[in-house]
Amino acid sequence: MAKELNFKQELTAAFGKPIAENPTQAMIEAAYRHHRLDWRYLTIEVDAADLGDAVRGARAMGFAGFNCTIPHKVAVIEHLDGLGESAALMGAVNCVVRRDGTLIGENTDGKGFVQTLRGLTDPAGKSVVLFGAGGAARAIGVELALAGATEITIVNRSEGRGRDLADLLNGDVREAAAPDLRAEFVPWRGDFAVPAGTDIVVNATSIGLYPDVDARLALEVEALTPAMIVTDVIPNPPRTRLVRDAEARGCRVIDGLGMLVAQGVIGVEYWTGVSPDPTVMRAALEEVFEA
Ligand code: NDP
Repeated sequence: MAKELNFKQELTAAFGKPIAENPTQAMIEAAYRHHRLDWRYLTIEVDAADLGDAVRGARAMGFAGFNCTIPHKVAVIEHLDGLGESAALMGAVNCVVRRDGTLIGENTDGKGFVQTLRGLTDPAGKSVVLFGAGGAARAIGVELALAGATEITIVNRSEGRGRDLADLLNGDVREAAAPDLRAEFVPWRGDFAVPAGTDIVVNATSIGLYPDVDARLALEVEALTPAMIVTDVIPNPPRTRLVRDAEARGCRVIDGLGMLVAQGVIGVEYWTGVSPDPTVMRAALEEVFEA
């Protein structure tokens, strides 16, 4: 008996440049296969000058959505139809979702971080030291604030970016949804001693990213205590020097793979409506990174 055939796959993608070393395809397509979704996630190099055409192409071809990475996270906004709450506050989009024929920009970087953190603690009322003030730090800072963190100390090398993030948190973010938040900027000079009583320490800088795997985050390791949760955004390698030092001090630790997987989970949920199995996605990344 003849059966109905369908060779049309649903499309999702990552747009960026450089993009070749971005491992997201491995984990997202592992989820699609595991959940028997006939979907694809394509890794596509898009030049900054071609972003508008790429988004128009995605619309024309009915993409269910796409992730954006360097250098498109801010530039993509003008090509979209609307923004989710945290993406609007951050002014950055890393995940575009087609909803009722419109393209809406979301930011899953910080949401993935907070989701992973919730596995260990509720951020509400917590005190945080956040190293870094770039894109990842902005996403994490905003989502921590929206999740109810009350003290965020931003430690960053360049003062301009550090102050911008503190101003964003003390201004629009506090006004929107975080009335009890106090954010402070501290210029990063020498080894930073994390204050006693800090609940959560976050490395949101690129220090430790392959190939500079032995690069050291300038902090006093002795100031880390077992009561602290220490998290690192670096996905490759997942066992950074900070992760190893924090474990040796008895801290509970979340590595960068946890955050990467969690933001992938949210993206797949946005696009397909299916909640994917994070263990399948993490296993795919561990294979890629030989972790
Ligand atoms: P940005 O370039 O926007 O920001 C980089 C940050 O790192 C800045 O705060 C910068 O400080 C700081 N920094 C870099 N080198 C040094 C150094 N030698 N000493 C002190 N500070 C330094 O990058 P992103 O925020 O987009 O990305 C940061 C990292 O986060 C990347 O490694 C990326 O792989 C990772 N990431 C991980 C995700 C995950 O899911 N696991 C998701 C998104 C990002 P300054 O302002 O002084 O230049």
